[in-house]
Amino acid sequence: MLNTLPSENEMYRALVDKDASYEGVFIVGVRSTGIFCRPTCSARKPKRENVEFFPAAREALASGYRPCKRCRPLEPAGEVPLWLRGLLAGVEEDPSRRWRDRDLRDLGLDPGRVRRWFNREHDMTFHAYLRARRLGLALGRIRQGDDLAGTAFGHGYESDSGFREAFEKYFGATPGRSREKGLMHVTRVTSPLGPLVAGATDEGVCLLEFTDRRMLEKQIETLGRRLKCAVAPGSNKLLDRLQTQLAEYFDGQRREFDLPILAPGTEFQEVVWEELRKIPPGWARSYRELAESLGRPGAQRAVGRANGDNRIAIIIPCHRVVRGDGTLGGYGGGVWRKQFLLDLERTK
Ligand SMILES: [Zn+2]
Repeated sequence: MLNTLPSENEMYRALVDKDASYEGVFIVGVRSTGIFCRPTCSARKPKRENVEFFPAAREALASGYRPCKRCRPLEPAGEVPLWLRGLLAGVEEDPSRRWRDRDLRDLGLDPGRVRRWFNREHDMTFHAYLRARRLGLALGRIRQGDDLAGTAFGHGYESDSGFREAFEKYFGATPGRSREKGLMHVTRVTSPLGPLVAGATDEGVCLLEFTDRRMLEKQIETLGRRLKCAVAPGSNKLLDRLQTQLAEYFDGQRREFDLPILAPGTEFQEVVWEELRKIPPGWARSYRELAESLGRPGAQRAVGRANGDNRIAIIIPCHRVVRGDGTLGGYGGGVWRKQFLLDLERTK
């Protein structure tokens, strides 16, 4: 993976369509005006020969472009776009409501566009999001001791068995058992590099990944099983602290994170992740050096794999490992993000 930007054809099409699923993926500079915009800017669309694409606002600024006053591309990417706010407010007002494509069209929304936005921002379909939202609320009720049948009916499930089935599918536990288990909250965090999904139990932060990483939903499920806890959308104290510290980090006000970490893996993975945390900010080490410091000279491939399996981006700094020749090497979140993080840490 050398460059994660989509092709110029694809980006120009997204620009013309104001496709919100490309928010956080690219920034467009308009040569004729010297202004740069988000993909969904409401300004008139520039001619193809006048545009230049960048992975992020930072690069557009470095090329001399000014931020657009209309779409404000310097504000964190991944905020809920205006066109979707009415729908999300409707979901929060009545999470048990069933939404059909017809209902979306009644709100003036294109169901395909809604689907694409949820796929990109939450890595799940709109209907999976609705189910997860209902289940999160249901789980809260269960913890407060509501009886199961009441919970099931109160959250839009026709029967208790339907509720159990949906619950098992998404959280890997039956409602009855979840009473005894821990709970992992999963929330969305915005950043200058695009939105991330963060997860934490009361004991530790266990997930921080860019939302465009594939297999994210599966990863959350696996993590829930490993930690033997149920998963619900929402926040908790650790996630609140994480959001604050991450904002400070991107502002250049923070170098180290002060958060308990929960990173269960194989013995080897855990040793590698521990070693990664010893690389100070502003530094980078090679896969070879890392293997040698673990007493496993020659194991740089295995080290590279364990590095790529890291689930807590930025905090377990897998971006601080580069190739022996000084080139960046790969990064799960895309090489442009790795470069951004290393630059950010070096300038402090
Ligand atoms: Zn704009």
